[in-house]
Amino acid sequence: MERISRIVVAGGGQAGGQAVDSLRREGFDGEILLVTAENQPPYQRPPLSKDYLAGRCDRDRVLLRPEAFYAEHSIELLTGARIASIDPGAHRVELETGRTLDYDRLLLATGSRVRRLDGMPGSDLEGVLYLRTLEDSDRIRAAMERAERVVVVGGGYIGLEIASVAVEAGRSVTVVEALPRLLSRVATGELAAFYADLHRARGVDLRLGSSVARVRGEGDGGALRSVELSDGTEILADLVVAGIGIEPVTDLARDAGIDCDNGIAVDSGCRTSAPDVFAAGDCTSHPNAFFGRRVRLESVPNAMEQGRVAAATMLGEDRSYESEPWFWSDQHGVRLQMAGLSEGADQTVTRGEFGGDSFITFHLRDGVLIGADAVNGVREFIFCRRLIAARGRPDPAALADPSVPVKTLL
Ligand SMILES: Cc1cc2nc3c(=O)[nH]c(=O)nc-3n(C[C@H](O)[C@H](O)[C@H](O)COP(=O)(O)OP(=O)(O)OC[C@H]3O[C@@H](n4cnc5c(N)ncnc54)[C@H](O)[C@@H]3O)c2cc1C
Repeated sequence: MERISRIVVAGGGQAGGQAVDSLRREGFDGEILLVTAENQPPYQRPPLSKDYLAGRCDRDRVLLRPEAFYAEHSIELLTGARIASIDPGAHRVELETGRTLDYDRLLLATGSRVRRLDGMPGSDLEGVLYLRTLEDSDRIRAAMERAERVVVVGGGYIGLEIASVAVEAGRSVTVVEALPRLLSRVATGELAAFYADLHRARGVDLRLGSSVARVRGEGDGGALRSVELSDGTEILADLVVAGIGIEPVTDLARDAGIDCDNGIAVDSGCRTSAPDVFAAGDCTSHPNAFFGRRVRLESVPNAMEQGRVAAATMLGEDRSYESEPWFWSDQHGVRLQMAGLSEGADQTVTRGEFGGDSFITFHLRDGVLIGADAVNGVREFIFCRRLIAARGRPDPAALADPSVPVKTLL
């Protein structure tokens, strides 16, 4: 078999960080270079809108592995280094500095970038912020300390988690969402209504079906003053945080002629259309057996699993990504965990009282469990995931009965 001497990983996020670790665990003893544009070793993003933003944990706690891990495992970590182009034919990448690196295998783990309000009047004012990186979270936390009134644009998970932290810190918070309900891309209408009630009960002013038309400063280019909605309503604000979605970073792949389809197109082994080039994480779309179609997922479990699969297939193993999707969110001390899908369900069963302190909603199609949304149901959730992965056909009456442990239905 061909000897693999050097593997280059582009992007040190959750997927890239996981992949280099997995390469060593798989026994690869050649050179590994992890090239990342950020000035940090790989870290976890979820705390950036939760405990880290709230000041409940420090930088060391969010790192994926301790800083010493990379040197200890002979992984060369190039931080603050951006790959500018790939030459798949020559098996070579070029950094922005002009330095070139040859590779035997290349992993693209370039993640996502935030959508911005660019083009909207006032969107370039200081005090209009976005959240993707550790530094973004630091910036928002510092701005929140000075602010009295915070406007969050976007009622998705990240926007709602920021709203939750800001309210807890005693700020007056408004969430502006263009669609008529929260979490429209990712949750059922009932769950979205539960979250709307929760946020309102904690004092968040929700403006649903409202879009932001402009951001106003004091005079010309002065400090942030307010957000104006398209119906003319003005909401005073000292800080605006926009959480209006992300897009996959596919530029490198696209410029190198690698197939993209709502993300860098990979197969179930994380292979791209270019020989010896693999991709993992937010930047990819993959054929997903669970969805029965190609999907792009924006979640940590997906990035980690693809990082593991890519490490194995780069080394010539025959490994496939087969996980069911899952995700979590923390808002106002309530933990939501979701697995599988609610879309396409023909039966819904709830364990516990919907809207109570702890409940799980199960989604079934043709008797098969396809999804579960657990609100403060942490202990049972792992078994819900297993039941979904096993394409279980549990008795709906048993699912609804809190006295029947979910694990007994496996
Ligand atoms: C605030 C926040 C909260 C979140 N909360 C949750 C949650 O609760 N649960 C959950 O499952 N998911 C959550 N997510 C999503 C999750 O963090 C992402 O799905 C995950 O980080 C994706 O990992 P990745 O490695 O694919 O990409 P990323 O983590 O985005 O890493 C990609 C890295 O590549 C670097 N890069 C890009 N281009 C280049 C280049 N040309 N050269 C070198 N480096 C490059 C980037 O700078 C970045 O560091 C959250 C995300 C955010 C931002």
